[in-house]
Amino acid sequence: MTIDTVGVVGAGHMGSGIACAFALAGFDVTSMDINADALARAVESVAGQIDEMVVSGDVKPADKTVAMARLTTTASLKDLGSNDLVVEAATEIEAVKHRIFADLTPYLKAETILTSNTSSFSVTRMAGVTERPEQFMGLHFMNPAPSMQLVELIRGIATSKETFETVHAVIKRLGKTAVVVEDYPGFTHHRILIPMINEAVYALHAGVGSVLDIDNSMRLGVNHPMGPLELADFIGLDTCLSIMTSVRAGLADSKYRPCPLLVKYVDAGWLGRKSGKGFYDYRGKVPVPSR
Ligand code: NAD
Repeated sequence: MTIDTVGVVGAGHMGSGIACAFALAGFDVTSMDINADALARAVESVAGQIDEMVVSGDVKPADKTVAMARLTTTASLKDLGSNDLVVEAATEIEAVKHRIFADLTPYLKAETILTSNTSSFSVTRMAGVTERPEQFMGLHFMNPAPSMQLVELIRGIATSKETFETVHAVIKRLGKTAVVVEDYPGFTHHRILIPMINEAVYALHAGVGSVLDIDNSMRLGVNHPMGPLELADFIGLDTCLSIMTSVRAGLADSKYRPCPLLVKYVDAGWLGRKSGKGFYDYRGKVPVPSR
């Protein structure tokens, strides 16, 4: 099967980046969100991400006009029904994702392949609500989606060989590299990354070091481009907490318990960059540690 048209559910941080990556690679993209402001911000964000790539020389200025013309937005799942591929990138709440797939399924043409960008939830369980589990798999982009090389491909127990090969070919067309992982909570990337971030929050909680000391120890000591607390703010603290909770529940192991300080930040609405404050405060010209 050839994929030409792509629907992206959720126009937040990841959804807009995924839409951008597909539009630049020549796919027609329909971006859907229940929040009209998110859709408007997504169009601005795609334009901004392409501008950055023009400045860095990765994209020609003329490609921006072509890519932007390939992107349309909608507030209705119904408008995604005729797409060849759908990538779900809505909020990391399992019930939300199940509702989306259950509501979307009646509108789909027979050939549509469904994927989820979930960071941690069971692909097999999600496939179960779609009436087409053989045409369902996990497609986990990294953040920011347009520039990051890696994509995790996750087969559900029922995913067909044809579905897997079609999606793998799409990833090659995006110019990205796939790793194939099994359907376990957090897959590989987040099973390793998010517990590291959680441990950094525990270190902060215990007073082992300041925000800057903890971040510098990983930035300068391990050559990570961002420290773990800065990265947590970039990912979104609600997303980090949701992944940690899901990994703990799925693996039934208390070593994955979320740090109470992370829970407190999320309860306060301090979600990182997207809310203007997390472990750093982003409301001034330069981010400053918030404790
Ligand atoms: P986000 O909070 O930036 O955006 C989520 C979007 O989903 C919002 O715009 C919201 O309005 C929308 N949404 C919520 N319910 C919806 C519904 N019923 N229908 C349509 N849209 C709906 O979150 P994000 O960081 O973009 O994360 C999205 C997904 O990507 C999650 O599954 C997350 O685990 C995954 N992910 C995130 C990262 C990251 O670094 N943030 C990395 C890889 C994967």
